[in-house]
Amino acid sequence: MQHAKCTSDGKLWEALPFSQLEQTLLETKRLNLLCAECDEFAWFRKESRHGHPPHFCARHDPECSLKVDYIISDDQRDDVTTEEDQVAAGDTIIVRLDQEQGGQVEVKDVLSPPKEGQGEGGRTFIIKGKNRESSQQFTLRRILHRLVQSPKFRESNSNIIFYKNAKDIMLSGQVSDIVCGFEKITKNKHDGKTMFYWGPIASSRKTSDGKVWLNSGSQYSSVSVTIFADIAQEFLTLFDVDELEDLAGAYVLVAGRCHFTGNGEGKPVIWCGTSKFIFVRKYKAKSFLV
Ligand SMILES: [Zn+2]
Repeated sequence: MQHAKCTSDGKLWEALPFSQLEQTLLETKRLNLLCAECDEFAWFRKESRHGHPPHFCARHDPECSLKVDYIISDDQRDDVTTEEDQVAAGDTIIVRLDQEQGGQVEVKDVLSPPKEGQGEGGRTFIIKGKNRESSQQFTLRRILHRLVQSPKFRESNSNIIFYKNAKDIMLSGQVSDIVCGFEKITKNKHDGKTMFYWGPIASSRKTSDGKVWLNSGSQYSSVSVTIFADIAQEFLTLFDVDELEDLAGAYVLVAGRCHFTGNGEGKPVIWCGTSKFIFVRKYKAKSFLV
């Protein structure tokens, strides 16, 4: 896509002059982009090391005439049938965070200090009692896929349990209560609250202290997800991030505590301290030259 609308200056931008903006200005403006036709979330991608020119992409409304600039996910599982992802009424969804991405890395407890003797249990997962018949196990990948695809799922009262290891629950409740879209984050409801948060990323960068910041756009509460320096490299490796620009336009699902900066007057930041609590679904454009 060659053009995008920037809500911070009201201008229609072409990709090349946009790419030549002064860095700070570019980083601000790229958080405020919309498709010029349908007003849906758009993002800017700098020229890549592989030689793709700078360009814009957007989610697009289904009716949008620019939708020909089709985006594909690099997620193989996008081919899964929706049937497989259906949740039967009354079913409880189980997510085992310690099994995310192979389960080789120990899940660090970012919520409270670890208790002695915990986290040493076996890897066999047992669903007890009456839940045995009515539970199904999901991965973060599947949860994010459903959130993106199904507005109904976002608002559903399906029960969901996130286990941090074989025995201990990290978070449980109804989907609508413990999973929140970026655009719905408010200071009153979410400041200081640990939940699963999800939404699209407009830009990302690494600060000199080694943290990786994933920034959402202005229509998504300008939320940032901060990945601690000690897991930054692991995170980038797990999600096969070649260069940080690859994350523009990706969807993220992350568990962490939300804090509003500036004593609550600033913007929301979600802190992520373990790579098991985050899933990223990258996008790449099928065609750059529409
Ligand atoms: Zn559009």
